Amino acid sequence: MRNIFVTQPYLPPLEEFVPYLEKIWESKWLTNGGPYHQQLEEELAEYLGVEHLSLFSNGTIALVTALQVLRITGEVITTPYSFVATAHSLLWNGIKPVFVDIDPVSLNLDPKKIEAAITPQTTAIMPVHVYGNPCDVEAIQRIADTYGLRVIYDAAHAFGVECNGNSVLQHGDLSVLSFHATKVFNTFEGGAIICPDAKTKQRIDYLKNFGFADELTVVAPGINGKMNEIQAAFGLLQLKHMDNVISWRKEIDARYRAGLKDVKGISMAQTNCAQRKNYSYFPIFVEHDFSLHRDGLYDYLKANAVFARRYFYPLISEFSMYRSLPSAGQANLPVAHHAANRVLCLPIFPDLALDAVDGVCELIRGSGRR
Ligand SMILES: *Cc1c(COP(=O)(O)O)cnc(C)c1O
Repeated sequence: MRNIFVTQPYLPPLEEFVPYLEKIWESKWLTNGGPYHQQLEEELAEYLGVEHLSLFSNGTIALVTALQVLRITGEVITTPYSFVATAHSLLWNGIKPVFVDIDPVSLNLDPKKIEAAITPQTTAIMPVHVYGNPCDVEAIQRIADTYGLRVIYDAAHAFGVECNGNSVLQHGDLSVLSFHATKVFNTFEGGAIICPDAKTKQRIDYLKNFGFADELTVVAPGINGKMNEIQAAFGLLQLKHMDNVISWRKEIDARYRAGLKDVKGISMAQTNCAQRKNYSYFPIFVEHDFSLHRDGLYDYLKANAVFARRYFYPLISEFSMYRSLPSAGQANLPVAHHAANRVLCLPIFPDLALDAVDGVCELIRGSGRR
């Protein structure tokens, strides 16, 4: 059996990309807000149903910059159940992360537990729409309004997700996307900040270009977070294929659900209000009544050339630079620990054949029978 990895980037036919490259070679405009950059910002805002969007070289620089855009300091409430870049963006700004436990169903930051973690130093909340499953955006906004806090969503998984007829990316003060090769929509590396108004977009655009407002004026200590023309051109091409990409993912998701629904001890995540999902991940939870522990199943699949991933294990709060924070203690985060010890993300990507999905389901069923 050929190796099956947890994800594989979608690459449109190479010949479709060549004309874009020829134009770049002709114009010699390689970066700094070139025509493809401009066009991708417009097309993405339209596709995603958001007002303003600023492209970045990657999602992590976009997160770091988003915190600078709103001048966030002090303490920020966030989730331990995410990719490590979420909390790293806080440390890069000298901000203290305060971990709050997650909801057992959505696996997102639990709004019921946020208030108890607020102190006079708290300035913002940074939730994550884990696996593209929307956070309880209304409850989070109510808390933010009550306490005068900003909300920055790490929306790295939430490309194209809609809830109650609106893009989930419209919530909070800012949302941040990642276009890394492993994500649903990719530009090799890349990312974006979504914001509600032109003035904020102006500030974001200054900050991602060293703080330059014009040739001679630097308004802030900005960073270099610019997306280049090759990335932007690839994004434009990728966008043309997105509807197909998502419908292929949807078929795979349905195939797994059918293949695993009767397997004792295996449960699957349910999305709450998302009407338009992106099927970015396929997490399963290996419960105590399955015959193997999660790591046993992980090893068994690996021995059979299926490379699942334990997203998100270990929790961010377990890494050495976070472990000594008062909020990082295991007793503070029981639900997150429970999920991290049971989760396994199965392979899902557009080129994954349905009979390969059946094969993965068969392996899981077989491993449980031993
Ligand atoms: C991928 C990811 C990031 C980082 O994005 P990059 O584009 O790889 O820098 C941040 N947060 C989450 C939740 C992610 O999954």
